[in-house]
Amino acid sequence: MLLGAIADDLTGATDLSLMLARNGMRTVQYIGVPPAGTDFAGAEAVVVALKSRTIPAVEAVAMSTATAAALRSGGAEQIVFKYCSTFDSTDEGNIGPVAEALLEALDAPIAIACPAFPAAGRSIYQGHLFVGEALLSDSPMKDHPLTPMRDANLVRVLQRQCKGKVGLLPLRVVSQGAEAVRAAINAAQTAGYRLLIADAVRDEDLRVLGAALADAALITGGSGIGMGLPDNFRRQGRIGTEPLPARLSAPAGRSVILAGSCSTATRGQVDVAIAAGLPALRIVPLDVASGAQTAADIARWVIDNTGALPAVVYSSDDPAAVKAIQDQLGRDRAGALVEQVLAEVSVTLANNGFSRFIVAGGETSGAVVEALGVRALQIGPEIAPGVPWTRSLGQADLAMALKSGNFGAPDFFLTAWDLLDD
Ligand code: ADP
Repeated sequence: MLLGAIADDLTGATDLSLMLARNGMRTVQYIGVPPAGTDFAGAEAVVVALKSRTIPAVEAVAMSTATAAALRSGGAEQIVFKYCSTFDSTDEGNIGPVAEALLEALDAPIAIACPAFPAAGRSIYQGHLFVGEALLSDSPMKDHPLTPMRDANLVRVLQRQCKGKVGLLPLRVVSQGAEAVRAAINAAQTAGYRLLIADAVRDEDLRVLGAALADAALITGGSGIGMGLPDNFRRQGRIGTEPLPARLSAPAGRSVILAGSCSTATRGQVDVAIAAGLPALRIVPLDVASGAQTAADIARWVIDNTGALPAVVYSSDDPAAVKAIQDQLGRDRAGALVEQVLAEVSVTLANNGFSRFIVAGGETSGAVVEALGVRALQIGPEIAPGVPWTRSLGQADLAMALKSGNFGAPDFFLTAWDLLDD
């Protein structure tokens, strides 16, 4: 292993795994803190998916540092801490506390923080994160159920989460190339900065950052920051140029779509799927809370209604409806209830001949994969930027597309299946 990565959610890990695999690294994704002595043999890059985005910061720190230790003892020379390209976090963390703990654990003086992912419309200029043409704080992320993002100035956002000093690595420097970036990072280190939000608006900027960070012990960012890192190992003749597979050979079985994301993209995908005639069942959180709607009922409905077309089970709803539910149940309880019910549904379906799953939502995917006992994922073909098909390694043999809520084209739930072979 050359590169080890710690991702704060499952779909984020998949996104980074895809980025590294696309850039020629043999990549395996593991789920959960790797037990001591895990054999990562055969992988050039290992991405560990945690579910640490919204848990208490102390727990996120403990899981992340334990994972870093496992990756280092497995041979990783460089550690990437991966979070969402929309910097999903609250003032309590967890990006800042985890980044600072990793700096300490790896004995690294400074790290950059760069969630930019231009292919998915995330760019950073003067420290401000844009989602498409809108500032983060004007984007639908302002209404995220768990991590509403109301400030687009990431220097300010990250500083609120950190003990050490947070600064800016501006585009003016990044556009001058890797040498200039290294000089600026060194100067910032001397001035006492611990983390620098790095501007990046094009893939080229991410490649410059990657080249500049060849010797960095710790790098933090979105999946985009993984774009330029494999080239450093290739230049040293340590990796080849393995292409991504174009298709995935999938285990035989039935297909289902489970959507627990309330993001605009997922809501649109659910609408398109329903309009195309896919059988669809809505999860009503208040009915789940009262026991009027159970996982067993939902799974039975899916089994009975899956025919030529896969069924969609969705809890996705608009911000006003989500807020109304959160006001009644509490934010965390509402989220956990929905995650839990979808996780239970997935287990019943896997036990009843379903082997091909699309899951929408990062937290949702984490809950589903944990319930299914999936330990690792082999990265397959790219369905959309940031979303590959994967094949699970673990208790069950499944084809899984785990989609961060915001990702994918409107027809994702209809067309993703086209990349699977029997
Ligand atoms: P995304 O990738 O869009 O962020 P996640 O699955 O990570 O999606 O987060 C969505 C969160 O919202 C989950 O905790 C999920 O259980 C919760 N959720 C889903 N539907 C509803 C709903 N109708 N009301 C309240 N919370 C919901």
